Amino acid sequence: MTIDNKNDLDNVSPFFEIKQTSWGGRACFSKCALPAGTPILEINNCIGSSLSYEFRKEVCHFCYFYHNGHTLKYRLEKEHLKFMENCNDKENGEGKKSTRMNNKAKFQGAGLWFCSELCRSKFIKQPHIWELVQCYEILWCNLQKMFKRENPDDVTGREEQLNSIIITEDVIQRSWDDCQHNWIPRIDKMSAAKKLHNLPVISEDEYCCAKFVCESLFRLKYIDSDSITKKCFNGLQSNELSKIHEFPVLLHFQELVFKTLYILLPDYLRTQLTIENFRHIVGSEYGNAFGIWETGETPESREWFGFEVLPEASYFNHSCKPNITKTREGRTMEFTLNSNVAKGTEICIDYSGVLDLPTKKRRKFLHDTWFFDCLCVRCKSEM
Ligand SMILES: [Zn+2]
Ligand SMILES: [Zn+2]
Repeated sequence: MTIDNKNDLDNVSPFFEIKQTSWGGRACFSKCALPAGTPILEINNCIGSSLSYEFRKEVCHFCYFYHNGHTLKYRLEKEHLKFMENCNDKENGEGKKSTRMNNKAKFQGAGLWFCSELCRSKFIKQPHIWELVQCYEILWCNLQKMFKRENPDDVTGREEQLNSIIITEDVIQRSWDDCQHNWIPRIDKMSAAKKLHNLPVISEDEYCCAKFVCESLFRLKYIDSDSITKKCFNGLQSNELSKIHEFPVLLHFQELVFKTLYILLPDYLRTQLTIENFRHIVGSEYGNAFGIWETGETPESREWFGFEVLPEASYFNHSCKPNITKTREGRTMEFTLNSNVAKGTEICIDYSGVLDLPTKKRRKFLHDTWFFDCLCVRCKSEM
């Protein structure tokens, strides 16, 4: 996607502007001279996030607090579901009652855990959140079925096939065209029960990606289309081709996630699920998402809990000698200058968390993870 108007991204921060660079891509430059310690961006409105399956019970879904290997106590109960439903009815206005969950007695907590009453309460008070919780619940309840099924032969067949060809833009496009023109019309004609029978077999990682796409569709549905977050999101670079070229089975992974969501999502969210939206959500996550890491540990020993996409913060380039430090306070990411900068200086963060590695290893890590050869001042001077 491209940015229609070059001024669209001017108001991300009073301290820096996002500009097209002569060397390709966009970058952030200081609008004026700034002293070290200036907090240049603080952001807590992610578009989508996902915690890894392994840590789903131990990391708070709202504030990302990690309970050191213990299962968190607070879950969503029937009474919270009722509360969210009532709020949603009010938000939708008179006479527009939301479709109720069929069997509330069986509500299973949507696969979410919270560290405290406060986090749970903040979570359920978000506008329209009932819609997202219902989607999470549907995914959660179908998950065991999807895990358990026998792996049909065509699954491995598809992966082998992808691994045997060179992935180009054209291969990706043809695969989605096939989904659009063959798979979708076939599914659309089926009864609800038959659709469920066509649910693909998915893994834990695909479930987590489905949750991420769900949240992204939900946030994008309600976000103001003139908001800076929306414009930043639309302008994010998609790394679909480079990522799938490197890992061809990801194309199959994406197809499975898309098909799962297409079959399971209720209409109010499924109408947002176009192939174009899906590809931008997933493709721009590659290389733009921020990791949710265990705090207070060294980069080598800390655990990775998941990731989130923060569009306003996604335009910083990497440097091995960054002039901003990023810190996390719960859901909030703070970006603070760690040195004085003159007007027009490029403002960079460290993507890697491996700045202590020797030059060659560090550059290889950056290349393998983000698909670029770092030519920052430090790399140039060390090479
Ligand atoms: Zn919490
Ligand atoms: Zn570098």
